Amino acid sequence: MPGLYLHIPFCKQACHYCNFHFSTNLQRKGEMVEALLVELERQRHYLQGAPLTSIYFGGGTPSLLSGSELERLFEKIYALHPVDSDAEVTLEANPDDLSPDKLKALRDSPVNRLSIGIQSFSEADLRYMNRAHTAAEALTCIENALAAGFVNLTADLIYGAPTTDDAQWAYNVRTMIGLGIPHVSAYSLTVEDRTALAHMVNKGKTPPPDEDTAARQYEFLMDTMALAGYAHYEISNFAQEGWRARHNSSYWLGEPYLGIGPSAHSFNGVSRQWNIAHNSNYLKLLTATNAGEALWYETETLTPVQHYHDRLLTGLRTSWGFDPAGTPSPFKEHFLEQVRPYLQQGLVELHRGSYRLTRFGKFLADRITVGLFFG
Ligand code: SF4
Repeated sequence: MPGLYLHIPFCKQACHYCNFHFSTNLQRKGEMVEALLVELERQRHYLQGAPLTSIYFGGGTPSLLSGSELERLFEKIYALHPVDSDAEVTLEANPDDLSPDKLKALRDSPVNRLSIGIQSFSEADLRYMNRAHTAAEALTCIENALAAGFVNLTADLIYGAPTTDDAQWAYNVRTMIGLGIPHVSAYSLTVEDRTALAHMVNKGKTPPPDEDTAARQYEFLMDTMALAGYAHYEISNFAQEGWRARHNSSYWLGEPYLGIGPSAHSFNGVSRQWNIAHNSNYLKLLTATNAGEALWYETETLTPVQHYHDRLLTGLRTSWGFDPAGTPSPFKEHFLEQVRPYLQQGLVELHRGSYRLTRFGKFLADRITVGLFFG
């Protein structure tokens, strides 16, 4: 079912590991909101009138939006699109933004799910990552969100940082469970190009993340979340019964979505498009372009190979897996041939007609996926 994504490309400060698109210069935030409103108008027919089942404010840091900015965006969205009455409406938030007043304003808006960037409950980890919040704020923002009436909460954690020893990681995971958060996403710290972390590693100022530590901490995560009753339904995502992320699941299921804002991507089942990942150029191109001209984004029609790769990439990493049944020749035959050694090695398993990664396979997800690519 179709989803709408809005990218809010601003952050208070740059986390050392982050390669998402954002600017720390907040001066043009108001102008950006105006541009998002314009783009919403221009792309109003992209989803062909299908009702939205999810709306997702990502970034960047959407919790930097003021109450009135958010209100204007919602007014426009609801004026342009039918929205399911039980649509999942998520806003990504950083702990330092979630004051009781902010939480109250969010409760009064259509937002019904918060995705909080916790990353760690350790001061040393947060300083290493250059997060804008403290460990105390990480804890209190969750308590405050629950007290404000947000039940549908998800929070991010990062494992494998040189500052995160196993005891701290265990504390992070158990704290999250103890707080009663129904959905958790956990990512291994990775060194992305053109980030401060890459620079620090290249200069020898910090060691690269240790793969064995990351694997050990991931294993602990899987075991502990399972014992606590969370389903491991995507390689990085865990949910209690009934709390899976609908928006992200629709990406993994290949549903259409419209992305608004710099760097946002869209997909309509046939082609995908991506907006320019540059705030000034996005503002300039969007406001300078006549309706009908589409200079702020590029489009590509997916080839059959790209379709196969997209389905494989997303499906294999989920608990429902990749079903080759609807895959055309020669991709289906190629897949069935190539997957055999992974089945024999116990890295991939067949479950109700679909193929998915086993516990061991999850550690080698990228390698296995590339091994199943066509050509
Ligand atoms: S707050 Fe989020 S988007 Fe912004 S720099 Fe940090 S990780 Fe990246």
